[in-house]
Amino acid sequence: MSRIYLSLSEQNGSEIEYINKALQSNWITSGGPNVNDFEIELENYFGKDSFVTALNSGTSAIHLALIILGVKAGDEVICQSLTFSASANPILYQGATPVFVDSESETWNICPNYLEAAIKDRIKKGRKPKAIIAVHLYGMPYKVDEIHAIADRYEIPIIEDSAEALGSNYKGKKCGTFGAFGIFSFNGNKIITASSGGALVSNSKELKEKAIFYATQSKDNAIHYQHSEIGYNYRMSNICAGVGLGQMKTLKEKIELRRNNHLFYQEFFLDVEEAELFEEKNGNYFSNYWLNTILLKSNKEKNDLSEAFENANIETRPIWKPMHIQPIFERYPYYGGKLSEKLFENGLCLPSGSNLTAHDKKKIENTLRTFFNKR
Ligand SMILES: *Cc1c(COP(=O)(O)O)cnc(C)c1O
Repeated sequence: MSRIYLSLSEQNGSEIEYINKALQSNWITSGGPNVNDFEIELENYFGKDSFVTALNSGTSAIHLALIILGVKAGDEVICQSLTFSASANPILYQGATPVFVDSESETWNICPNYLEAAIKDRIKKGRKPKAIIAVHLYGMPYKVDEIHAIADRYEIPIIEDSAEALGSNYKGKKCGTFGAFGIFSFNGNKIITASSGGALVSNSKELKEKAIFYATQSKDNAIHYQHSEIGYNYRMSNICAGVGLGQMKTLKEKIELRRNNHLFYQEFFLDVEEAELFEEKNGNYFSNYWLNTILLKSNKEKNDLSEAFENANIETRPIWKPMHIQPIFERYPYYGGKLSEKLFENGLCLPSGSNLTAHDKKKIENTLRTFFNKR
């Protein structure tokens, strides 16, 4: 009995051509023609005034965004608590202090009320935050209008963690293009992959060049190796970029397939009172539905359902455990209530890959049917 996974990468066959081109031309290093072409593809995708730097991970993209925004040791950076640890770790790389903020219930992302309360309180303490990291979790856009209005009012730049949200948009504008920086991940389980990789999106050529400078060991303009700033080895490899270039060909299709998975779950959960499917709240939100998630009535229900899936050899996963209750982060300030904790305790991610077959869906549906006693 083959296992059904949460989210697997899927090739379309063109990846190998770009990899072969890299091998045949001996461009087997970081940077190179595939990297440049991948950046151009992404810039065309994001549209006018988007400048993309291809990097070796989404985590490095967040780190470089913080560096370029001038975040230094002792500074504070606000970060959505309900997220993957990669959103918050780069704050610690800089020796800065994360300040975590709870989610709101409509998009599960950073809550405007708690965000403003956090900013006001930090300013009162003489510690105005240097940046805000807001996340489009599971592909769902955060409350862009509200969050950016607050950030603008206090003149604090936003880093949009769009690692899970390639293809999502808010009021027709693509996620990752609202903030001072947008970041993306091309890790193996994301909507498209480069085997590993990331991208930093900004709105100027200067910022793009600055990111490339830091990502390639901060080499000064000199004939010998001269360095006046700390450098990083963060550039994307030309082989990985080949995978990414191939994957871009079917991005649109993959978004459609993931959204179709959502429709499948929507139909099932329509008349199930014991669980609530996480969905776009209105027409302003367009999610790529990277993962479909449901909220059960209790932690026990969630564990029981997860076990039922496991017995059927189907992978599920809990919602991200909030940062403010993680051992490495719990000592840092937190503004919020218990919502992100409740989502963690009662929420479950369901199989959502673009390669789920009709047969897989039948198996998933049967497991759900039995669990919820549905005819
Ligand atoms: C995957 C992910 C990242 C990190 O991306 P990597 O490419 O794995 O470094 C950051 N934030 C979120 C929300 C993610 O899901």
